[in-house]
Amino acid sequence: MTAVKKIILATRNKGKIREMQALMQDFGIQVLSVSDVPDVPDVVEDGETFLDNAFKKAREIAEATGIMALADDSGLVVDALDGAPGVYSARYSGENATDEKNNEKLLEELRAVPEEQRTARFECVMVLYHPSGEWISAEGSCEGRIALEPSGDQGFGYDPVFFVPSLNRTMAQLSRDEKNAISHRGNALRRLRDTLSGFLDRLEAKSDET
Ligand code: IMP
Repeated sequence: MTAVKKIILATRNKGKIREMQALMQDFGIQVLSVSDVPDVPDVVEDGETFLDNAFKKAREIAEATGIMALADDSGLVVDALDGAPGVYSARYSGENATDEKNNEKLLEELRAVPEEQRTARFECVMVLYHPSGEWISAEGSCEGRIALEPSGDQGFGYDPVFFVPSLNRTMAQLSRDEKNAISHRGNALRRLRDTLSGFLDRLEAKSDET
């Protein structure tokens, strides 16, 4: 029988670990990260969708460790670029991509695109996978527009060029709490939380049968 009350987060990103730990607190679940467990495989993110990548990460880690795993995948989707950079967000500017180079490339690609056509969204998919093969997923998004130039120094990635019309600031000009309240990852986590109790009950019922 596999313990239900333990979860491993498929990330080494400290910010994400903090956010996901906060979600799990109310559920009495012990939260581990891949750094706490030996021999966790490095998963290659070669899927064509955020769901493919999150599912692959959660499944491979759950199967390798025997512990229920939570993984996410996220990125920026720009309408005028037919959805790019999408799943390639982290490496948009090539092999040695940095946040700065990615933002420069994005602004260059959109140089001739007028403000009203610079619509974009951050998307995030989370997958919680139990070694028995049971899993759930949740999606979250956050609508905005690509600014003409970067502003702000909070956050990471594309935050300085992602303008949030409802707050009249870029994502990099928001405090951490303001960002969590509207972000794709925050929204996905809140949705996952809505289905988590039912999922844990199902796992308990299944493990009682065996
Ligand atoms: P991952 O989900 O950590 O693999 O994120 C992929 C990439 O998407 C990151 O490297 C960033 O470039 C971009 N991204 C994801 N979430 C955010 C965010 O909240 N702000 C800015 N960029 C993000």
